[in-house]
Amino acid sequence: MKFTRVALLLLSALLLLSVALVSCNDSTPDPEVTDAPLDTPTEPSTDVPTEAPTDVPTEAPTEAPTEAPTEAPTEAETDDGIPLNELTIGGVDIKEYTLVVQDGGAACVRNSADELVEFIEKATGGFRIPEKASEHEIVIGVTDRDTDKVTAARAEVKLDGYTLLMDGGRLYITGSCDRGTMYGVYCFLEDYIGVRFFAKDTTVVIDQDAVAIPADVHTIHNPYFEMRDTYWYDMRYDQTFANHAKDNSFYDSSTPVSDIGGGIGYAGRFVHTINLLQDLPYQGNVQPCLTDENIYQLVLSNVRKWLDANPEATIISVSQNDSDPGKLGCQCANCKAIDDAEGSPMGSLLTFINRIANDIKDDYPGVYVDTLAYRYTRKPPKTIRPADNVIIRLCSIECCFTHPLADESCLKNKSFKKDIEAWAEICDNLYIWDYTYNAETYFTFFPNFDVLWDNVNFYKDHNVTGVFLEGQQVSVSGEFGELRSYLLAKLLWDPDMTEEEYYAYMDEFLMYYYGAGWEKIKTYMTDMTKIAMTNPHVGIFDKGEKMIPFVDPEGNRDLNYSRDLLDLWLEAYELAETEEQKAHVEKSSIQAYYYCHLKGKSRKEHLKKVYELCEKYGIEYYKYVIPMPDSSQNENLDSLL
Ligand SMILES: [Zn+2]
Ligand SMILES: [Zn+2]
Repeated sequence: MKFTRVALLLLSALLLLSVALVSCNDSTPDPEVTDAPLDTPTEPSTDVPTEAPTDVPTEAPTEAPTEAPTEAPTEAETDDGIPLNELTIGGVDIKEYTLVVQDGGAACVRNSADELVEFIEKATGGFRIPEKASEHEIVIGVTDRDTDKVTAARAEVKLDGYTLLMDGGRLYITGSCDRGTMYGVYCFLEDYIGVRFFAKDTTVVIDQDAVAIPADVHTIHNPYFEMRDTYWYDMRYDQTFANHAKDNSFYDSSTPVSDIGGGIGYAGRFVHTINLLQDLPYQGNVQPCLTDENIYQLVLSNVRKWLDANPEATIISVSQNDSDPGKLGCQCANCKAIDDAEGSPMGSLLTFINRIANDIKDDYPGVYVDTLAYRYTRKPPKTIRPADNVIIRLCSIECCFTHPLADESCLKNKSFKKDIEAWAEICDNLYIWDYTYNAETYFTFFPNFDVLWDNVNFYKDHNVTGVFLEGQQVSVSGEFGELRSYLLAKLLWDPDMTEEEYYAYMDEFLMYYYGAGWEKIKTYMTDMTKIAMTNPHVGIFDKGEKMIPFVDPEGNRDLNYSRDLLDLWLEAYELAETEEQKAHVEKSSIQAYYYCHLKGKSRKEHLKKVYELCEKYGIEYYKYVIPMPDSSQNENLDSLL
């Protein structure tokens, strides 16, 4: 519980930072927040589309870009230092092309066009595409170059997707909104120019053979998920990186939402709001009576106040307080009668939520009322259905993360699968709140890399339209925060990628981010996952030593195997070519030192190394989970060992 309390303190501080999500219409984020949740749904941001959320996007009518690498790369650049020696578009050399960019609109269109110029220059070893009219143009956004073919393609673009096509000697990249156009430019850079936005400190132009964009290229990419929120530190606090990753949550309060093509934000706090909407301080494990008319009128009144104070918000969260397992909502006769009849405490909650949604729908068109299906309310009611302007956010906190959610042989996941299947039947605005880290010990390797692809596809297969992936957002990561951000954002943007493509993305990241010793790190990941799999199941609150027991990958007790795993990091450090890669290896090796400190030889030295590296790399959360090594704390340090 100590770690959980610590996490709460940090989250309380973090709630000073607001969250809002973006969509294609103009709105600004609302930074109003209050205090923290108890221990789970921490603070998501969510996105509501301008299009009706029931409008399920379709996939491209023609070829999809070949975005995913098919195999791990072997080198970063050609010998001449020019990553891309030959690039043709419709059979014409890139050097014959000029650039035409949409006038006006959101700043993100201009910014992405500037990045296109920069990366083409890098890739070609010096060609700076001029911005002027010519016979061969790359056209970004909505311009007077639009043809019927372009207009028709744009009309097929859903949400913040884009189309990329050639018509009459021009290559067009455009969305139906400015943010879609921006994403289209970034996809062009990734798919054809070889740009990889691996992490906020690691953008690479990879070496490629000659690239020929055919004259009949005609791609439409419509993202499946209208809301894509990868809630890891690197993504959350760097809007530029989030833009590159096509993560459409709004993170950086210093960036106007209008700069990235409009936004959608919560009116005030985005989760665990029910006390605040009664003018009460937040309190965990306490829920109001949902059949009390006075409470209803007070909440409704505050919902209106919050929306009036945030006229551009499009979601209002009316959601239960956080709670521990086994805790319930109001047990009065009136609430219980509904819950008993509906076979779930969601009965009284959804009755309350639907009434709010109905009461505000005329005065606040386009606003959605968002509530959690979480803990005791996870199971859908028998007969009550969410109103059209209600979002259900289903939370997977009880689940196991070494087995896919679809795996019915995992008893922890079986009941969740039953619930999501039931919600999928009755809810058109179904969002997911999933967990992609160990919430008990941020240092510990979380063995879920082999279920991420399955789980995102599982949501896609169950009518889910928005996904929030809670990660470690307190400070930079000593685990695999950067890799997780990268892979999760890729999955949310394109859940149709194959599993092989998913692992190829992983390998490519590892190679460029960690350098030539990347396979050592891959071995570490594989071994740690196997060790974790010796548990029947793994949950997000499992303590480090339980989650990763002291056995070898075959399950034999071995207190010193942790040292073998640490050696893999030390070898990778030696093999890394650049100072940046060495720093990446060293920072991520904290997880291995932490594992070594839990048992076996030299525990104190390993703990001190964790401390030293956390200081070196600006990792804040260690201060709350290990003692400070000054004289006043040495006693604590000793007692820990
Ligand atoms: Zn009651
Ligand atoms: Zn399991």
